[in-house]
Amino acid sequence: KSDRQLAKYLANLGYGSRKEVEAAIRRGRVTGEGESLRFDGEPVDPAPGMVILMNKPAGFTCSRQDQGNLVYELLPPRYLKRTPALSTVGRLDADTTGLLLFTDDGKLLHKLISPKPGTPKTYEATLARPLEGHEAELFASGALMLRGEDKPLLPATLQITGERTARLTITEGRYHQVRRMFAAAGNHVEALHRASFGPLILGDLPEGEWRLLSAEEISALA
Ligand code: URA
Repeated sequence: KSDRQLAKYLANLGYGSRKEVEAAIRRGRVTGEGESLRFDGEPVDPAPGMVILMNKPAGFTCSRQDQGNLVYELLPPRYLKRTPALSTVGRLDADTTGLLLFTDDGKLLHKLISPKPGTPKTYEATLARPLEGHEAELFASGALMLRGEDKPLLPATLQITGERTARLTITEGRYHQVRRMFAAAGNHVEALHRASFGPLILGDLPEGEWRLLSAEEISALA
């Protein structure tokens, strides 16, 4: 890359304005190239096309500009200055915990949140009242209508794991879908945790922490 291209590249990764980055290059703060490019001796942030997997804690919203705690604030500040911008892949409610993805790849984002039968997502729900036994059939029917909508939900798989706990796999991502499904079955979700997204699981990633997906993991998603 020429110095001009390099400055543009680094400015887009949030290292500063074009002018600031050009000055940093002149002062020798940028070294190496390609995979070993460094800024002040530190490896440069990932190139565009990144996907981040976070274990979302409760009490953080997926919005960019709400009052209160935002999931974006759990990432390095420079990641929020990138062009193209990072955004969450869909949203989890403020109270929901678990697997949340971020990407700056618009095509991938679109594919993962498209309303067509898509990527299966598994949620672990804790309910206010004991399950009654009719829920699995109702959710699998492909005929369940949520209030205010005109299209039934696609079939979803329910696995009962306890008197008041269940694992639900859905392939859509409608607004508050899981909470509304249990409400339609006469129950109420008290706690909700997303355990998987397509082939991805949280593993032992602690709450509030995140990691970058590898190129292999990204291709398995797309
Ligand atoms: N369904 C919900 O109701 N809430 C979430 O956060 C995710 C899915």
